[in-house]
Amino acid sequence: MPHQIPVRDGPLRWESWRRTINVSARKLEMPPQCACCLREPTGAVVAAHVKLHGRGSSRGSEKSWIFPICGMCQTHVRLARTTNVKAKVAAGLAFTIPIAGCALLGFWVVGLVIGAVAALATGLMMKQVQRKQVEALASPSCACLGPAVRFDGFHGTIHSFRFANVRYAQDFEQANASKIV
Ligand SMILES: [Zn+2]
Ligand SMILES: [Zn+2]
Repeated sequence: MPHQIPVRDGPLRWESWRRTINVSARKLEMPPQCACCLREPTGAVVAAHVKLHGRGSSRGSEKSWIFPICGMCQTHVRLARTTNVKAKVAAGLAFTIPIAGCALLGFWVVGLVIGAVAALATGLMMKQVQRKQVEALASPSCACLGPAVRFDGFHGTIHSFRFANVRYAQDFEQANASKIV
């Protein structure tokens, strides 16, 4: 069945949530397509959510759902995730080094300002450079660079999902039509 709706309306982004769907169910039907690019899936991606037992609690209950994904998308999603971690680590270093240096000389306030600017610039620059690498792995039909499905949370049997691919969201909705809330 040909789909009429375009997958996305602009350039590829790290994250683009286009549809939110709530379902009430214990079992769900996942459309057998890659949740990102709609091609034939070869693997699976886990969408998990941890609900904390109260404010400030470190304990919680976790639930997860498995969505199909193709090999290529699995690779770009994995790289997008490590890129984010690397950008944070680099920004952290760019922040601490000037502070440490200036603190030794007795100008820690100056260090704080330089550190904040350096952290911001480094984080943005790393993301920009690595974005090209991640983009090279994604296909024109990909919905986004990072994960295309997010499990937002649950309350009883009600589960909330966010989708980057509008067509996948539509198929998911049709496959679980009787459970949509
Ligand atoms: Zn794919
Ligand atoms: Zn993809």
